[in-house]
Amino acid sequence: MAQKWVYFFGNGQADGEAGMRELLGGKGANLAEMTRLGIPVPAGFTITTEACTFYYQNNGQWPEGLEEQVWENMAKVEAIMGGRFGDPADPLLVSVRSGARVSMPGMMDTILNLGLNDETVQGLIRKTNNPRFAYDSYRRFVQMYGDVVLGVPRADFERLIDEVKERKGVHYDTELSADDWKYLVERFKALIQERTGQPFPNDPREQLRGAINAVFRSWNNPRAIRYRQLHEIPDWWGTAVNVQSMVFGNLGDTSGTGVAFTRDPATGENKVFGEYLINAQGEDVVAGIRTPQPLETLAQQMPEVYQQLMDIFKRLESYYKDMQDCEFTIQDGRLFMLQTRNGKRTAQAAVRIAVEMVQEGVIDKKTALMRIEPAQLDQLLHPTLDPKAKIEVLTKGLPASPGAAVGRAVFTAEDAEAWAERGEKVILVRAETSPEDIGGMHAAQGILTSRGGMTSHAAVVARGMGKCCVAGAGEILVDEERKQFTCKGVVIREGDWITLNGSTGDVIVGQVPLVEPELSGSFGLLMEWADEIRTLGVRANADTPQDARVARNFGAQGIGLCRTEHMFFGEGRIQAVREMIVAPDEESRKRALAKLLPMQRGDFYEIFKVMAGLPVTIRLLDPPLHEFLPHEQEQIAALAREMGISEEALAAKVESLKEFNPMLGHRGVRLGITFPEIYEMQVQAIFEAACQLAKEGQQVVPEVMIPLVGIPGELKAMKDATIRVAEQVMAREGVRLEYKIGTMIEVPRAAVIADEIAKDAEFFSFGTNDLTQMTFGFSRDDAGKFLPSYIEKGILEKDPFQTLDKGGVGQLIKLGVEKGRRTRPDLKVGICGEHGGDPESIKFCHEAGLDYVSCSPYRVPIARLAAAQAAIARPGERAGFATV
Ligand code: PEP
Ligand code: MG
Repeated sequence: MAQKWVYFFGNGQADGEAGMRELLGGKGANLAEMTRLGIPVPAGFTITTEACTFYYQNNGQWPEGLEEQVWENMAKVEAIMGGRFGDPADPLLVSVRSGARVSMPGMMDTILNLGLNDETVQGLIRKTNNPRFAYDSYRRFVQMYGDVVLGVPRADFERLIDEVKERKGVHYDTELSADDWKYLVERFKALIQERTGQPFPNDPREQLRGAINAVFRSWNNPRAIRYRQLHEIPDWWGTAVNVQSMVFGNLGDTSGTGVAFTRDPATGENKVFGEYLINAQGEDVVAGIRTPQPLETLAQQMPEVYQQLMDIFKRLESYYKDMQDCEFTIQDGRLFMLQTRNGKRTAQAAVRIAVEMVQEGVIDKKTALMRIEPAQLDQLLHPTLDPKAKIEVLTKGLPASPGAAVGRAVFTAEDAEAWAERGEKVILVRAETSPEDIGGMHAAQGILTSRGGMTSHAAVVARGMGKCCVAGAGEILVDEERKQFTCKGVVIREGDWITLNGSTGDVIVGQVPLVEPELSGSFGLLMEWADEIRTLGVRANADTPQDARVARNFGAQGIGLCRTEHMFFGEGRIQAVREMIVAPDEESRKRALAKLLPMQRGDFYEIFKVMAGLPVTIRLLDPPLHEFLPHEQEQIAALAREMGISEEALAAKVESLKEFNPMLGHRGVRLGITFPEIYEMQVQAIFEAACQLAKEGQQVVPEVMIPLVGIPGELKAMKDATIRVAEQVMAREGVRLEYKIGTMIEVPRAAVIADEIAKDAEFFSFGTNDLTQMTFGFSRDDAGKFLPSYIEKGILEKDPFQTLDKGGVGQLIKLGVEKGRRTRPDLKVGICGEHGGDPESIKFCHEAGLDYVSCSPYRVPIARLAAAQAAIARPGERAGFATV
């Protein structure tokens, strides 16, 4: 028997179910499930994703059995819906839609009203008694089929419609008559014949075969490919094809179509949120051409249908235990559900819905935690408009996707991408967006449209991207050609600054100042739950008191990396650093360092104070010294004048510090070995600051960290020097402090001989930026030239500087942890490279038994959630949380 390629659904029975999304796509699996739940769904069938992959692997061939199964299932649909496919007396019409495992809104193709031709349209007229409707449906079909299957651009059909409207002196499609549409069908067909050299296919069976192939092919159209890249969806998944009997929302005033979310997708409020249009087809709602009505008004217009809808939403939510995004059509007062899926939502809504569903007893805390994509929290961690700022609102649109966006107005997706490439912040302003604009939407800070509702393309896609969006700001007039918009007499031209508030819909002229976000309400609660479950500690990389404050507010349990070199820049400092570098002997170097000492002490004092009671790991100087000197001849001359030394002498110094490979050169602990007085000054500053705070009654937990160690002797020398200076300071100040000395593990050799290194280290912190660089032999600064090709060609799956390379660098980490703890069982181990803020890498760190991760302050909540998810997935790993 041939493989099963086609799955039926209709009249309460279905071959598939919700759990089969890999095979049937999300849409197909959910149509089957809704049918099983007894919800009214027009009958139809789903062609599997396996059929699509077969098609791609076999040069566009259909697998054996597919064709027969399509017609067998069509017969079942006919039996339920009445009418016959292709029957002029009583035609059954179908829609053909794509549906991948995950929803990709608007990215692939749909064809409606399939089955119409010159004969069957007569049957439709008799059935509906509505020739205008029948010819309008027919022309929509020819137009969509011509565009999607036969490749004749949609705009060319629109031009023919405009010609007819102009000739008749009318503005709207609704003013055209049955005869006009009939005439246009002929013109459309002639256009297709002219462009493709083939007549339009009249045979419904041929139409269906063509449409199925086109949906298969649409998996690989450029915008679907781009969407998959942006969302990391594998190319090999393929799409399923859903063939479903048509129901019509455009049969008159007792018909309509709409979309609804069972909760508010922007804020998460537990309130049905929907829109609909009377006398319209689904594409009219989503395209944003007519602005739809809020669902509440349906309660008056069609109270029974409204009630039935509300009941269905309740049932769907309690079945799927998640917020649903549904499409429905009302045909002559009768309700049909066309789709349900877990709704896309903003991060704000995701958090609120998950937390409230726990409070409602629908899901448990672990499910709530697993439901939030850690990276998505990033949206909640960005600044919002300063409530104290004086703003003048130019106009208001719909608050389609929350957050704040400040940028310069641009009017095409290409411009948005080009400007963003140059480092400009832009806001994409369009009358409405279409799937082609996806790249520009991604590049923009925010999106503003003048047309469309909360479920328009712009709104749905922006929410999916977590991007601020104000949609349907009807008072603005967008002039794409002149690249400007006008509103109440104000003209905003390309490049002018505007600000959007996606939470209120405000459009503001100019740049509004922003304020830091807070972890409160549902978000705060979710973080508490994450902390209850995780065993991995979370610290932050912070070099300034300001960063430390942000980190602490976001729940960091300490500082895992304070890069002291960042304190060497700035007024009064860089001069002293340069004096130290050019100093001809130890004496003058010490004089320069003496100038730096009070500044460093002041910095450490502030940071310790902010982090009072929590550990602070301070790394001694790491970068090569040439980074602090100018390299241009002119700048060298100016600096020489400023320092009162000869230009030649300074130039010679710069030359002598030049290295062929500075990242593998005179840096890290090597500086400490050759210029011990630099590290001594830093240690002195750390302990003087710590002693002062201790005297003021604050608890200080300093941890001194030596970078780039690869040889035990390097660490031993620095450890001895650190202890000597620390003890001197404490003796002088009469204070006794607990402190730790440890090392970064950044050189592969250090990981390999970690047992020896651990003899002199009380903690390890994996510097995975350098460790990745040295393990691959990829220069951190030059990899950008070739890594993208590696990823494109599939040689590497991911950028190893972003997501930890488990197979190589990860093995060194495991080895280092294991050997280090063999020597010192209580060795504390963390990670402070960029990977410390990447959810997938955090999961690895949990499994490798690390005590903590350290990441940038803004990623701390992401790391807390990722650590909780790792603990849920793999409980029982080393519990380091309590002792971070
Ligand atoms: C590292 O190498 O991972 C690290 C944290 O140090 P830096 O990035 O400063 O070299
Ligand atoms: Mg490093």
